[in-house]
Amino acid sequence: MAHGNLNLLLVDDDNALRRLLARWLTSDGFEVTEAADGASAIAAIEASCPNILVTDWEMPGDVSGLQLCEYVRRSDLPQYVYTVMLTGRDGADDYVQALKSGADDFARKPVERMELLARLQAGSRIVDLEHRLSFLANCDPLTGLASKRTFHEHFDREWRRARRYRSRLSCIVIDIDYFKRINDAHGHPAGDEVIRTVARLLVDNSRATDFVGRVGGEEFCVLLTETDEENAVLWAERARAKIAATPIVFDGKTLAVTASFGIAQWTPDIESVAKLTDIADQCLLAAKQAGRDRVLCHGELQRISAACHDPANAAGAVFAGVVARDVMTTIVASLPYDATIGVAAKYFLQFRFNSAPVVDEQGKLVGFLSEKDVMNVLLWPNCWTRRISDVMKTSVVCYDESEPILTIYEFLCRMPIRSIVVARDGKPTGIIGRGALLRWFSNIVAARHAKAGSHERPGASPDRTQLALTAAAISQQVDQMKAALEANTADDVTPLVVGGASRIQELVNDLLASGQKLFGTDERHSVETSKRGLQRAEATSNALSIAPSITSPGELPCDGSAAGAGTS
Ligand code: GH3
Ligand code: MG
Ligand code: MG
Ligand code: MG
Repeated sequence: MAHGNLNLLLVDDDNALRRLLARWLTSDGFEVTEAADGASAIAAIEASCPNILVTDWEMPGDVSGLQLCEYVRRSDLPQYVYTVMLTGRDGADDYVQALKSGADDFARKPVERMELLARLQAGSRIVDLEHRLSFLANCDPLTGLASKRTFHEHFDREWRRARRYRSRLSCIVIDIDYFKRINDAHGHPAGDEVIRTVARLLVDNSRATDFVGRVGGEEFCVLLTETDEENAVLWAERARAKIAATPIVFDGKTLAVTASFGIAQWTPDIESVAKLTDIADQCLLAAKQAGRDRVLCHGELQRISAACHDPANAAGAVFAGVVARDVMTTIVASLPYDATIGVAAKYFLQFRFNSAPVVDEQGKLVGFLSEKDVMNVLLWPNCWTRRISDVMKTSVVCYDESEPILTIYEFLCRMPIRSIVVARDGKPTGIIGRGALLRWFSNIVAARHAKAGSHERPGASPDRTQLALTAAAISQQVDQMKAALEANTADDVTPLVVGGASRIQELVNDLLASGQKLFGTDERHSVETSKRGLQRAEATSNALSIAPSITSPGELPCDGSAAGAGTS
């Protein structure tokens, strides 16, 4: 019988007997470790928990065989330890006492080789059964990695240990990039093979003390003990490169995958496992947004953030005190989630928007739909009558109206996302896109120059030609709308008005911003002015809403598709 994968700790103070037993057991296939007394046995168990313990009863020192059994049953060891007691005693009471203290079996000295091996063979069956049960209970069947629950139990233990001993502990969250496409293009079994392969590569990259778990569909988490962030980054870079360089062959096809990594190291101010995971998740999100197939750690994220908040930095100073509400473009209308693709397509065409928030019946934001999402499914059977909720993006980045614009600026700088949704009392009220932010920023900079006497053109009056052009453009828009309204015989003139009014709104905002040059007003004042402009526009657009407006969850489309409601 081979027990090659079973570790056995043999404890006896009789050196000659112990050596003999060790020889028998080794030749029967066990991996044998020896200890000469109870205290060193405990040390050996703490260093590496055995599958089987064979211990003498009477030994010198503080810890007898009985006490060793009690210790094993009392301790929160990572696995069941099957325990056999050896002794010269042979009374029925002794037998009972040994079993009561936690031994599973009992062998009398002098020990018979065949008897001992037969008893251990029975023990091995128990150990094997325990392994199978614990695998079913604790491991993910697809990859064999720790399941989410097991991983978090382990995480809790390690976190407590790190806190108690102030030791280093790093957490890495990993998510396969664009995994859904693999399922969509090659089928679920191909996706499963990818998950299995990535899991294997992560395990291959690990030391015995690293702990890898599958915490979601194509998401993994790795816990590195005694490891700081810098070394965790090295670990992750190795794993990332390996995954990117490993072709996965499935059903004759070769698939290439990449993964993104977020890393956080525990520090005493991080008060829970959830907080540590959350920080690593934020880094993962940033790694995704920064283009995927990359590693981002908390330190790096903080450095980026500090640079944005530094008052010496132009952005830090210009954005001080400005919130999302001051900069956003008002959302004109949202799409109800149970509307069909046909309705959405008509909406985009009529209103000349390229995207819109999607809301549920309570008006809560549940997703985001862009023209691109509609285009992607045009060839599906019955595409026109399908629901928006089948194709919309469910991850939408949403900030409250009162969010400092610096945070949003920072986010849009870092992420390949073109815009975010703004909400008030849980209802989406606006959009801030990169374009709008840039326009706002350049207006503020222009105003500051005017106030400071302008570095570029000292003493120059505001650019009247530009103002005149903007004013003319407004007038032209108004005329066009007027003419169109007079000529239009259709019942519903909403699209015409909304499209036109949105363009006028932008031009008015430009004019208001240019007013800062004329009057030399400060930034706060200019913000107030353009805010009033926006509020006026908002009053108009609210009257035109085709669906009740909304609330605010998570994240935005990560493929950079524009959230362009409010302008065309
Ligand atoms: P991103 O780069 O942003 O992570 O995009 P993604 O496509 O990887 O992420 P998304 O969360 O959109 O898709 C994950 C998909 O994983 C959706 C789900 O159907 C699939 N999935 C979850 N569990 C399993 C599984 O056990 N096997 C397979 N084949 N697919 C799974
Ligand atoms: Mg003894
Ligand atoms: Mg995922
Ligand atoms: Mg993914």
